[in-house]
Amino acid sequence: MRNQERLESADVVIVGGGVIGLTIARALLMRGAGRVFLVERAHLGAEASRAAAGMLAPQAEADGADAFFELASASRDLYPAFADALREETGTDIELERTGTLYLAFTREDEREIEHRYLWQRRAGLSVERLSADEARELEPCISPHVRGALRFPMDVQVENRRLIAALSASIEKRGVRLLLETNVESLAVERGRVAGVETSRGFLSAPVVVVATGAWTSFLTSTDKAIPSLSIEPVRGQMLCFETNPALSARHVIYSPRGYIVPRLDGRLLAGSTVEHAGFDKRVTAGGVQAITSHALEIAPALACLPLVDSWAGLRPRAQDDWPVLGACSEVEGLFYATGHYRNGILLAPLTGELIAEQITTNITPPQLQAFSPDRFHLATVGHVR
Ligand SMILES: Cc1cc2nc3c(=O)[nH]c(=O)nc-3n(C[C@H](O)[C@H](O)[C@H](O)COP(=O)(O)OP(=O)(O)OC[C@H]3O[C@@H](n4cnc5c(N)ncnc54)[C@H](O)[C@@H]3O)c2cc1C
Repeated sequence: MRNQERLESADVVIVGGGVIGLTIARALLMRGAGRVFLVERAHLGAEASRAAAGMLAPQAEADGADAFFELASASRDLYPAFADALREETGTDIELERTGTLYLAFTREDEREIEHRYLWQRRAGLSVERLSADEARELEPCISPHVRGALRFPMDVQVENRRLIAALSASIEKRGVRLLLETNVESLAVERGRVAGVETSRGFLSAPVVVVATGAWTSFLTSTDKAIPSLSIEPVRGQMLCFETNPALSARHVIYSPRGYIVPRLDGRLLAGSTVEHAGFDKRVTAGGVQAITSHALEIAPALACLPLVDSWAGLRPRAQDDWPVLGACSEVEGLFYATGHYRNGILLAPLTGELIAEQITTNITPPQLQAFSPDRFHLATVGHVR
């Protein structure tokens, strides 16, 4: 029941001000979508988008080409123009660092893994280089002498995700977004099979189109029509450590092993990650997390042992049942769109997610790249159809 104040009406309401909600807002405003409201219960970029490491690395961990790999690679390839446009619009440099990514092998099994990855990616015509242990250490002298070999992915790069949030926030404010911060969306209003708006902690906001970009909290968003089930997204905790480097101990590449990664930032910080934990909505850093991340980072670069640990944090990755993002129109409710479940790759997938969702909303046509990620795939699965 709507027992609260009625707010202005919107053309589109986006729920959630993480990187996904922000890129969708920007893409909609660029297409002239009218009154675009973004409702965020805390502040912009408060959650996973701030916690991330900012790696844009679809190739480094991929063992084959599928629809997800195509989506992720296409989004990565949008980044140079995206970064330039954001700098022009807002003056903020999102620090797109294009040195590349190294993936190291320390065991026989790691060597088999990187050999397989090298072969399929070469056959697919992708850009990947095989390095001996000496070549890897020549590129990055901090790498452990125990390394047995490495791959270099020159196209897998990184971005400073906190700057990205700042740039996107400035861009959408300039373009006239209506922001409702510190405002919780309590439910989706659905009437006769179509969206009517959202019930918020400040009142009812009416809109014919609602985009759900609520990350790990998506399952809490229920509808006033109880026949519409909420989407199942689980939180997966990732902890991060941050060290202060010195010139003798810095790296330029993002450096992975099968167990962890280190990410050098331009300001001299070095991030090390991460954990993959099912700990509910608990975002605390734990002793076990610090120990695991430290030991994996030291396997990559033992000299990090002398660096001061200056910060640590954890965030909740939004994961759908099949690990793939959930993107696009929900066929059960007209006007309802999802953009969630980006799990370990939301920063990477953000530019393309924004473009594709805005295209679907403004043209009413489903871009072919969205088909494999439709929210309908879960409903279809329950009645016997599989993707
Ligand atoms: C440790 C770690 C490392 C990572 N590293 C990388 C990486 O290197 N590269 C990469 O691509 N990805 C990485 N990720 C994943 C990436 O951070 C996420 O996929 C991405 O941030 C998801 O963005 P989002 O906008 O969907 O979610 P979020 O950033 O979590 O935003 C969701 C927003 O919705 C708001 N919200 C929720 N419910 C409501 C409601 N009812 N009403 C109003 N607002 C609501 C929340 O407050 C939040 O601000 C990492 C994640 C973690 C935790």
